[in-house]
Amino acid sequence: MQVTEIKDYIQDNGIDSIRVDFSDIHGVNRGKIVPAYRFEEIVEEGITCAQAVSAVMLNNDIAPGSGVADEISYGDMKIVPDITTFSTVPYLDKTIRFIGDPVVDDQPWPFSPRNQLKHILAKYAQLNLRPIVASELEFYVFKTNGAGTCDFYCDKPSNVYTMSPRVDPQNIMHKLQQILSEMGYDILYYNHEFFQGQYEFNWKHSDALKMADQTFTFKNVCKELAHLENLLITFMGRPRNDAGGSGFHMHFSMNDADGKNIFDDPSGNMGMAETMRHFIGGIMEHAKASTAFLAPTVNSYKRFQLDSFAPYYIGWGLDNRTVYLRVPSERGPATRVEVRAGCASANPYLAISAVLAAGLEGINNAIDPGEPFEGDMYRESPDRFETMPLSLFRSLRELEGDTDFCDAMGKKIVQNFMAMKEAEIELYRSWVSDWEFEHYSYHL
Ligand code: GLU
Ligand code: MG
Ligand code: MG
Repeated sequence: MQVTEIKDYIQDNGIDSIRVDFSDIHGVNRGKIVPAYRFEEIVEEGITCAQAVSAVMLNNDIAPGSGVADEISYGDMKIVPDITTFSTVPYLDKTIRFIGDPVVDDQPWPFSPRNQLKHILAKYAQLNLRPIVASELEFYVFKTNGAGTCDFYCDKPSNVYTMSPRVDPQNIMHKLQQILSEMGYDILYYNHEFFQGQYEFNWKHSDALKMADQTFTFKNVCKELAHLENLLITFMGRPRNDAGGSGFHMHFSMNDADGKNIFDDPSGNMGMAETMRHFIGGIMEHAKASTAFLAPTVNSYKRFQLDSFAPYYIGWGLDNRTVYLRVPSERGPATRVEVRAGCASANPYLAISAVLAAGLEGINNAIDPGEPFEGDMYRESPDRFETMPLSLFRSLRELEGDTDFCDAMGKKIVQNFMAMKEAEIELYRSWVSDWEFEHYSYHL
């Protein structure tokens, strides 16, 4: 919609509030609400926010050395609404929403995950390439019980693809689907997953930026709707010991300027174009460094277990769900790769950026991915294949050691992310958990 059409929409529908939202480094939805009569003003001038938002950890501490503070002393920035992201907010009265882009001194602010994804997409555009992405997100719904803890949403365990009202006792999944349809989402389907009260939504593929926007928005809609329904939806990697992890699988294909998927090559090795092989080669080469962005919390690593359908060893394979990167069997326009390493808690902008940055390194340097792995990779051994980095600490060491990848991601956002995550690891490292007391106190 154009500015004049949005003005009309505001008028015709009695809209009184505009939300301008943006992603922080964690992928959490931040923003401000503006009276609707200020619409044209904010389109031109943006709204003022503090750059300090990028130094704030999830527990509200300020992460020391986050880069933002060093360079600009927590000054102001403008959030400029991207009017192509216009949407209604069906569960809020008289409200519309835009995603905004942080700008400082008329330049895209480099600490913004969305700006960073746009920066990487511009590099693809220079090669006349347009990455296409489809998200798959898993998550848990819990009942809040008033005692500060949560119970499973469903009373009894169900399994993957269980179909019954008993896997949606309060109708939240149905409501989510209705709201997303109203917001213009092209959802393929959703289903109950492997564990009690765990679900997965799958999107139809789209431009990378649109997919990142939708994934970011989806997660926030889930959080907000669950709150309104006295439930909790969480995308954390593994919320409980008695249930498995939640992944953020991403499917990637690559269009040329005419909208043709250039990954498809019927005469190529395994029906794959050389560019696709190189894209895979780059993702494999930088898999350990990019894991920090794909699995960004200390909890994310509790998902990487044998036989979990999350990767444990690093490898790629043809229609194989035991590896890091799967090449589904379809060819033609549907020729694509699925990166399975992502944790549901990952910031969609940074996770998509990380895969695209690694893939672009592969394309630019013609990195050969080697032969696909065949069989069950969970039965492999560490002397034959490298494991995933199995902690956030290991991932950060891999990240800082891979300078090509850091340059491709954007040095400033890497610096900001690292500072945030070092501080998070330190909080976790010094925290005494129940497990420790139970395990040690009697015997030692
Ligand atoms: N929950 C698994 C993961 O953490 C994925 C299961 C599936 O293949 O859908 O990645
Ligand atoms: Mg799944
Ligand atoms: Mg999948």
